[in-house]
This record gives sequence, structure tokens and C-alpha cells, in this order.
Amino acid sequence: MPAGLDEKLEPVYQHVLRRNPGETEFHQAVREVLESLGPVLVKYPEFAEQKIIERICEPERQIIFRVPWQDDRGQVQINRAFRVEFNSALGPYKGGMRFHPSVYLGIIKFLGFEQIFKNALTGLPIGGGKGGSDFDPKGKSDSEIMRFCQSLMTELYRHIGEYTDVPAGDIGVGQREIGYLFGQYKRITNRYESGVFTGKGLDWGGSCARTEATGYGTIFFVQEMLKARGQSLDGKTCVVSGSGNVAVYAIEKAMALGARVIACSDSDGVIVDQDGIDLDLLKQIKEVERRRISAYAQERPGVSYLEDGNIWTVPCDVALPCATQNELTGKDAETLVKQGCIAVAEGANMPTTPEGIRFFLEAGIAYGPGKAVNAGGVATSALEMQQNASRDSWSFEYTEQRLREIMINIHRTCYETSAEFGVPGNYVVGANIAGFVKAARAMVALGLI
Ligand code: GLU
Repeated sequence: MPAGLDEKLEPVYQHVLRRNPGETEFHQAVREVLESLGPVLVKYPEFAEQKIIERICEPERQIIFRVPWQDDRGQVQINRAFRVEFNSALGPYKGGMRFHPSVYLGIIKFLGFEQIFKNALTGLPIGGGKGGSDFDPKGKSDSEIMRFCQSLMTELYRHIGEYTDVPAGDIGVGQREIGYLFGQYKRITNRYESGVFTGKGLDWGGSCARTEATGYGTIFFVQEMLKARGQSLDGKTCVVSGSGNVAVYAIEKAMALGARVIACSDSDGVIVDQDGIDLDLLKQIKEVERRRISAYAQERPGVSYLEDGNIWTVPCDVALPCATQNELTGKDAETLVKQGCIAVAEGANMPTTPEGIRFFLEAGIAYGPGKAVNAGGVATSALEMQQNASRDSWSFEYTEQRLREIMINIHRTCYETSAEFGVPGNYVVGANIAGFVKAARAMVALGLI
């Protein structure tokens, strides 16, 4: 049974369901936020008068377009792309582009909706947006990726800009894709407008530590959650789902802080390496060779590869879902807690199902939701925008220090807000309320727009 909604919020949620049929991930993301907001309406009656919740659930603008491109055999291919410009009360729309066959409007809207609150939590001037395409980069050649990106940008360029909407990467979109997208934007507009995209390469306007930021930020948040409970990462056993950019740099920072990371995964299977993951080998396979995680087990004796395996069956102290939405179910949550897991932090967006979240909260373990935990990525994007605006570039150490401070602040804000609303240590309530209140106050101030 889902938790109840406040009687004022139930009709708002029903309205969202009716207006957005079939978009189940979007419904899930909205419900999770609304479940936290009952007490906020009591404290801030102006939010109800101004219909802030109804307004925040409706994107300011949604763009859906065709992306035609030619594959290496000369065949014409058609994909669909999206950019959902959700909320710009705090700054230009900001959020990544996702290329994955599962992408449809409901996924982009859930991501764009969460991005509003995540971006608000960073304390930096960025609104919320998200985009993507059902294009599957898996198995595509470099020139196919380039042609696809160029075609996509030939439409998208007219909707974005450094003061309007600033995309970045997400699943399936890394520095290579951002290069092709930014290159086409530059060509069409005849402007070297660095601030229109983040996640750029270091040679062409990117920021140090942006690549590492989501993973590192995740671990900084874990450190703070554990510190609040008188614990540390040193000596803890960690399991990290995924093996993309977020997972790799979460593993790197966790290991640097003395944790033992023994498992990671991709959509085909799981590797368990009891000696601790060999990070150089993992990076070589994933970042350089772009191979599947099964190659790791082939290269290293003694590693087990579980084809189609469930990573949450591997016993650990700290679980870090860093792959994708709804990858950790209620049953997985039960298994983790039963096997001694004391902390869960989400490097991915909405990786835990509502049943899983409820289980973690009821079990009283430290549970950090994605919109707080993985905000270091977009926060460092905002730092990249700052550097671009001042035509400057900061050192790795300085940028990482700024990221660390931002994550410590986000943790403190979430913790204090949870305490203020009577549920100390409930980071779901803390993140939802703190992120919402910041965006909502700006919306009230800016009037009915
Ligand atoms: N895609 C990332 C996220 O989910 C980063 C977005 C950005 O840097 O704009 O927050």
C-alpha cells in the first residue's frame, strides 16, 4: 500500500495522472515528492493560494522532434528526441540528455521534474530540464554517433542557449557525444558559446572534476550520512550497481577513503571481485575499449561473473545504486538490510522503487535519495558555467573542494529540514521539502508566469 497523500494533495496527484496518461515513471516521481509536501502547505499557505504545486507539475515547455539520420550502410533511420524545459524559476533550464532505447516522454518528464528539486538543492542558479532520445548508442560506430548528434542538434539548437537551456550528459551521452552536439551548435549559430553545454572536454571549455563529479559527490554525501551516525567509510564493504561514469568515479572515491568495493554491473550481468575492484582494468574496459563488464571477469582470474545476476544479493555494508531507475525493488531492499547493509545512497536517478524506499526508511538505515546524493554532477556543471562566463578555468583541486563543500551543504540542508519537519534523518522528506521550498518561493516572487 502506498503511503497516503495529504487530502489537499490527493486531487492534485489525480489530476497529474489524468493529464499524463501512461507516463508511469513521471507519476512515481511526482507522487514521491507530493508525499513529503503536506506540512509545507500548512507552513506556507501562499503556495496553495498560488497553485504552486499544480504549476510545478506542469512543464513550462515540451519539445518533441524527429531525428532522421543515415547509418553506415546508407539506410535511413528515424529516432524521436525530447527536451522538456520544466522550470526556470531559479535559472536557465539545466539537465542532461539521455540516449537509451527506453526513453519516451514519461522518462524525460520524471527526470526533468526531479531535476528542479535537485538543482535547487545545489544552491546554484539553475532551473530544471531534461532531454534525450530513444536512440540506442550500443553497437553504433563513431560516425553513426556523430551523424545522429548533428541531426539532433540541427533541431535542438533553436531551443537552447547559455541563458535559456543548458544541456549536459546522462546515460548514453558522454564527452564524445557532447563534443559532436556542441560542434554542430557552434557551426549552425556561428558562436563559440561555451556556456550552452556542460560536460565539455577540458581542451574546449570543460571543467576539471566534471567527469568525476557525480560519483565523487555521491561518496561525499555517504561520508556525511555516516558521520551523522558516528561512522565512516573506512573498512566498509561497498557494492555499486552500473559501470558507467557515475559508478566508476563512485568506486574511485570510495576506495580512496578506505572502502572495499567488491561488485559492479551492467545490463548483462554482475562481477564480484572479493579482492576489491581493479579500477584501472575497469576504466580500460569501460572508458577506453567500450566493452561489456563480462570482459573484466575474462581478464582477471578469480572474479565471478553472474550473467543476468542481481547485484543486491551480494552482501555489503553500503549499497550504491548508480545504474538506472527502478533497479532496486522492495525485495532487494529487504535482502540488503537482512544481510547487514547500513547505508544506501543513490548515484542514479530514482533507482529505488517506492516499496524499496519505504522498506529502507522503516528499517531506519541511512538512505540518501538521488536528488540529494547525485546533485554533485549538476552542481559541477553550474561551476563549469561559472568558469565559462568568466572565461576562466579552475584547478582540479579547487573545483573538487567546491564540490565537496556543496555536498556537505546539501547534506546539512536535508538533515536540518528533516529535523524541522519532525523526521530527523529522513533525507527523502528533507530533500523534497528543501528543494521544493526554494523553487516555490522563487515562483511566488516572480508572479503568475
Ligand atoms: N544528468 C545529470 C543529472 O542527472 C547531470 C545534469 C547536468 O549536469 O546538467 O543530474
